[in-house]
Amino acid sequence: MTKARAYAAQDATSPLAPISFERREVRPDDVQIDIMFCGVCHSDLHQARNDWKNSIYPMVPGHEIVGHASKVGSNVKDIKEGDLVAVGCMVDSCGGCQECKDHFEQFCAGGMTPTYNSYERDGKTLAQGGYSDVIVVKRSFVLTVPGNLDPAAAAPLLCAGITTYSPLKHWGAGPGKKVGIVGLGGLGHMGVKFARAFGAQVAVFTTSPNKREDALRLGAHEVILSKDPEDMKKHAGSFDFILDTVSAPHDLNNYLPLLKRDGTITLVGVPDSDHPPVAPFNLIFGRKRLAGSLIGGIAETQEMLDFCGEHNIVSDIEMIDIQDIEKAFTRMAKSDVKYRFVIDMKSLAA
Ligand code: NAP
Ligand code: ZN
Repeated sequence: MTKARAYAAQDATSPLAPISFERREVRPDDVQIDIMFCGVCHSDLHQARNDWKNSIYPMVPGHEIVGHASKVGSNVKDIKEGDLVAVGCMVDSCGGCQECKDHFEQFCAGGMTPTYNSYERDGKTLAQGGYSDVIVVKRSFVLTVPGNLDPAAAAPLLCAGITTYSPLKHWGAGPGKKVGIVGLGGLGHMGVKFARAFGAQVAVFTTSPNKREDALRLGAHEVILSKDPEDMKKHAGSFDFILDTVSAPHDLNNYLPLLKRDGTITLVGVPDSDHPPVAPFNLIFGRKRLAGSLIGGIAETQEMLDFCGEHNIVSDIEMIDIQDIEKAFTRMAKSDVKYRFVIDMKSLAA
């Protein structure tokens, strides 16, 4: 067993605090990783605070993990000690169902094993995430990070990156398509970078007028203030695809009229309560679609990382010490992040 140090939530209201616990001994198919950096996803905040009413404590959040392989199991031939590796939102799945065979481990029929806030497949061991100095994960859920990417700025790719890359690719964001990204936070700013890299015409919908310049710098062609009905109306019937990354309930009926015929709005944000009901007329006229998407499979996550290596895409980050995690959570809840907090895990030793 390997002793791990970490920060954990003990319940929905107390601040995260230091704990130590044991990681499992490296099995033949495992990789042990010394964690260098971990991104702070809004899902960490939702789950630490029990927003989704499914939290298991003590909980070590964190599913945007980058570090060096420090031990490899005897069956692992393609990763060696010292390699720059990563772990995202899943650490296991059944491996035998059709979804797993089709490389959609996130939709595993038996339920995938999330990196934290879950039990491992033995049903007893709590899975604990990346706000920690070390983690042990099956090779088949470990990603490799292209050497040209800054490891700290690559960490958010493991969730914010794949969660936007996958739907943008699936729904065909590319040349000749007008794509909207709703919410310029961790996910949203990665969505802008990918949609632009895929060659689409990109618009950002934001509630924060002070993010306009950043949105343009990140690659958007235009910025729409979503609280300004006149600004919204100008874009009626013009979008092929809208990706909604917002972490709070809001009225989707404001966005559906902006889609073209056969256009799609896809939700990735998971608020703590439902959006107001969608009016059927807003879907019927124009044969519009309302869809959802969950992270991406492991093969697609590796594809995304390799794409980022080729195109030099990383997240815009603010580095923090782990002792400042509560300050980061408070700022994230106020949409005040540019555009992802990343924990420097060296601070755990301080
Ligand atoms: P984030 O960095 O906090 O960004 C969310 C953005 O939403 C904010 O920056 C803000 O953008 C906008 N926003 C916040 N409150 C709003 C409100 N009341 N009305 C309208 N807009 C609002 O969060 P994130 O890490 O990107 O995560 C976003 C959501 O995706 C979370 O719910 C998270 O749990 C979920 N998520 C889902 C998946 C998946 O697989 N489906 C994966 C990861 C995360 P502006 O300031 O530009 O308005
Ligand atoms: Zn996440």
